Amino acid sequence: MKNVVVLGSTGSIGTQALEVLGAHSDKFRLLGISAGSNAEMLARQAKAFRPKYIALADPAGAEELKGLGAEILIGADAAPRLASMEDADLVVHGISGISGLVPLLSALESGKTVALANKEGIVCAHRLVQEAIERGGGKILPVDSEQSAIFQCLCMGNRADVKRLMLTASGGPFRETDKEALKRVTAAEALKHPVWNMGGKITIDSATLFNKGLEIMEASFLFGIPGEKIDVLIHPQSIVHSMVEFVDGSVAAQLSMPDMRLAIQYALTYPERRECRIDRLDLARVGALSFFEPDFERFPALSLAYAALKEGEVLPIAYNGANEAAVNLFMNEKIGFCDISSCVEYAMGHIDCKEPRSIEDVIGIDRESRRLANSFFRK
Ligand code: NDP
Ligand code: MG
Repeated sequence: MKNVVVLGSTGSIGTQALEVLGAHSDKFRLLGISAGSNAEMLARQAKAFRPKYIALADPAGAEELKGLGAEILIGADAAPRLASMEDADLVVHGISGISGLVPLLSALESGKTVALANKEGIVCAHRLVQEAIERGGGKILPVDSEQSAIFQCLCMGNRADVKRLMLTASGGPFRETDKEALKRVTAAEALKHPVWNMGGKITIDSATLFNKGLEIMEASFLFGIPGEKIDVLIHPQSIVHSMVEFVDGSVAAQLSMPDMRLAIQYALTYPERRECRIDRLDLARVGALSFFEPDFERFPALSLAYAALKEGEVLPIAYNGANEAAVNLFMNEKIGFCDISSCVEYAMGHIDCKEPRSIEDVIGIDRESRRLANSFFRK
């Protein structure tokens, strides 16, 4: 029996993780759950799963969690404390944004295996993540579907024989929208993803391709592959989750119907495989799979990501922080869709910070990037 903690249990990844754990209750026990502010849903989950610990970042919801027979952790350090609980074996990390960084480091420092969905933490602090792994002995198993696919494909050869990674992208709702029309799209339109049902921020990031930009960096840091060896391919059906080409020309791919529960489950059961309650892939029914080169002009998020990765220290944080700020502005109808990449480009061009050596440094650069993105909007 493995004891599992789910960080961000009230989100899209978190609720699907609980489903997977519920389907395999002979193998996993839900030890703890955590959320930002949604105390009501957290309390409902606690009633259904009876975890030993409940963690909530926002103290305002503390009352709602009383009388559930669990130990309650409240405040900014609730998730990091839960992530490092002595009796936890596995941590599913589905907190969104840079707030996921401290809990990630905390889990790795205390030797946990982390099923990692949050990408912002590793993009912003890959060195600190590596140091935490070396100090604490923890490890990361990717949940992000592209990284899970690459992780599986890499088993087919040696790392030294990898020619390139091919990250697939659905292309989002505006795959075929021309540049002029892109300027006028609304947040409501951007929130309608053609394939995946996800949290709000990552859905906007999928429409701008900032999600793919973050994944280029995530793949580079997770697998130690430089940006020059990472390509992006638009694949609207989202059946091929990513591919690895080896030096001999052989290409390995991982395919399935698009369903995050598979990637979550694989990270939990690795290296074993178990039955998973997802639709089975019927290729004859799917008929055709198509692939296109991405349009770097309409989607500047990609070139900006390669530039950020090349510098590799301050610019990934600026890329992520400015994007988070710009997505907020866009969702609040303060800026247009195409302004998101302009805000990020401005922040990356104007950030003036030293390489980060600590969490405080990372948070400082993140804050400055958000300030720059907001100041660009006010210009
Ligand atoms: P959601 O917005 O649906 O969920 C976010 C979760 O994080 C919620 O449980 C939220 O709690 C919690 N949270 C937010 N802030 C804090 C905080 N300060 N402390 C503790 N918990 C907090 O996001 P998703 O599930 O879509 O995404 C989560 C992460 O996984 C992101 O990094 C995303 O990029 C990544 N990912 C998601 C995929 C998906 O299919 N959804 C696919 C691949 C990666 P509350 O409900 O209280 O706000
Ligand atoms: Mg992904």
